[in-house]
Amino acid sequence: MTNADSGSRVAIVTGASRGIGAAIAERLPRDGLAVIVNYAGRAADAAALAARIEQAGGRARPVQADVSDPAAVARMFDAAQAAFGGVDVLVNNAGIMHLATLAEGDDALIDRQLAVNLKGSINTMREAARRLRDGGRIINLSSSVVGLRQPTYGVYAATKAGIEVLSHVLAKELRGRGITVNAVAPGPTATELFLDGKPPELVDQLAKLAPLERLGQPEDIAGVVAFLAGPDGAWVNGQVLRANGGIV
Ligand code: NDP
Repeated sequence: MTNADSGSRVAIVTGASRGIGAAIAERLPRDGLAVIVNYAGRAADAAALAARIEQAGGRARPVQADVSDPAAVARMFDAAQAAFGGVDVLVNNAGIMHLATLAEGDDALIDRQLAVNLKGSINTMREAARRLRDGGRIINLSSSVVGLRQPTYGVYAATKAGIEVLSHVLAKELRGRGITVNAVAPGPTATELFLDGKPPELVDQLAKLAPLERLGQPEDIAGVVAFLAGPDGAWVNGQVLRANGGIV
């Protein structure tokens, strides 16, 4: 029996201090997983979430690491090892978004999106490929903008397209270890990343785009991640699962 079956599994959720990552970190302990609540800067939010999980009977530790820094990512895996004995599930959720047309793109903001979203995911996937226990799961957060291809989303969507390709490739590279690698691609979801800077009329308009006529909630996405992390998702490998109410 692998750790994936034993009920003592351990997950790292990057960017779990708020938004979709926080919902995932709160959901996985209900399925019996211990979680590392990773964050970049909001230590108090991550600590409060970890405390809430523990009060509800789960196991959780907040761990600071900027995913764009490979040494910090390695230390985060060390912290998971020290706290819970190993890692079985990586949820690559940390991400940032800066919208601009290519003509108006700012170098610093382009570089930061590439560093956090793309290089950050490479850093965590590489560490996971080296250190995940057999039978594990890697779940990468892409975005439905890869399919929507709207103006101003170019650089952000390119980082997510890269994450999708990496998911397919890593699924094959991990042949023989019983580890699945998949991507989840949400549509518009009610978090700071989506809501910040958008007037209410635009939010309403975007919410109506999907045939289900509402925004996604972080819990909608957490449920999909939990499926891929759990026994019912075991046969899904090397896939992109769009969770977006039918927007694309
Ligand atoms: P939020 O902006 O609400 O939260 C982002 C999280 O990422 C925070 O916990 C933040 O930590 C963390 N983070 C940011 N930079 C880093 C870093 N360098 N290292 C570690 N952690 C970092 O985002 P969402 O919850 O909306 O997004 C989560 C994921 O889902 C992202 O990958 C995003 O691209 C994707 N997504 C979101 C959609 C949406 O509509 N919301 C749609 C499609 C995809 P801290 O609080 O410490 O700053």
